[in-house]
Amino acid sequence: MQKLPDNFETYDEKRKQGFITMKNLKDKGQRVIGTFCSFVPLEIIYAADAIPCGLCASSEEPIPAAEAVLPANLCPLIKASYGFAYTEKCPYFYFSDLIVGETTCDGKKKMFELLNDIKETYVLQLPNGRDFPDALSMWRDEIIRFKEKLEDLYKITITEEDIKKAIKLKNRERDILREYLELGKLDPVPLSGYEMGTLIDASSFSFDIEERCETTAKRTAEVKELWEREFKGKKSTRPRIMVTGCPNMGVRDKIIKNLEELGADCVVIDTCNGIRTQLDKVREDIDVYTALAQKYLNVTCSVMSPNRPRFEEMGVLIDEFKVDAVVEIVLQACHTFNIETYNVKKYVTEEKKLPYMSLETDYSQSDKGQITTRLEAFLEMLM
Ligand code: SF4
Ligand code: SF4
Repeated sequence: MQKLPDNFETYDEKRKQGFITMKNLKDKGQRVIGTFCSFVPLEIIYAADAIPCGLCASSEEPIPAAEAVLPANLCPLIKASYGFAYTEKCPYFYFSDLIVGETTCDGKKKMFELLNDIKETYVLQLPNGRDFPDALSMWRDEIIRFKEKLEDLYKITITEEDIKKAIKLKNRERDILREYLELGKLDPVPLSGYEMGTLIDASSFSFDIEERCETTAKRTAEVKELWEREFKGKKSTRPRIMVTGCPNMGVRDKIIKNLEELGADCVVIDTCNGIRTQLDKVREDIDVYTALAQKYLNVTCSVMSPNRPRFEEMGVLIDEFKVDAVVEIVLQACHTFNIETYNVKKYVTEEKKLPYMSLETDYSQSDKGQITTRLEAFLEMLM
């Protein structure tokens, strides 16, 4: 199995370290906006001279407390995120000036109503689909309203020039992240999916975008050099897996790390906390609001109906990363991803002629043994 970098830090370690950084930034008057979703146009936040801070939680610890308010039969990501706010245990929630939600899945949008009782939660009205005639213009208007909300909150004016600068900055970061994630195309693959996923998720706790770009670019250069030195010309027999489905930071150890320890390579992670959000850039040659609306309406999340672009994107990734099989992760009670598994399975097995398995799980460790047994059986079929 591939080696982790010497200075590797787990997601939890990075999250904890970020607490002090965030406190210091707030002491200096830094503006902070808490977010939950890949549909939130981060460029508007940067244009307001604020920093976005991801609040999606990955720990089972606050779930019992959340269940005092929320139904138990709800996705663990929603329960954990709400639980951290409800128990006042998340410094990032505490330090956020405003929380931004969005009308994605039913669980999240109803949870945001309750979250608003704890801290002001501004909800972006995301269209349910991309294909109806007014979807793009509705979403563009909503992005403008979000800009106006931040102008009002901070008593500032956000100009189109500010937004253009933010677009360039984020596009540069997307290029760097994409180059790093595309290391998964190398054969044999010189870095693990566990490392790639951790780097992406943990980057939400380093708040300096320039520093993030530098760290990622440095790691990309190191891995390329390692590949030339130790991997080039060798043949790997390890199956190359695409991981798709729900955001997986709360189950990464249980599934992705486990898969890699059992002998596979997770070469591409086609999720919100993987390559999915880095594929498209924001156009720099058209009106800023239209460009942002286009980019963020195209996130291929299952909350969109219909969601054809997800399959087109998967097809390209399967071919480019030379994928041998697809593993889909569905968080319990995530209806949109769960229902979409039917079509994903059909697409993968019938059109791409590849093996597919889906795993429904939550943040507990109680199903770890069962998951290991299923992964072993799946890999046995591939090896
Ligand atoms: S999976 Fe969908 S709802 Fe969840 S963060 Fe990603 S885009 Fe948002
Ligand atoms: S994983 Fe599914 S249910 Fe959970 S927040 Fe994302 S879209 Fe909603």
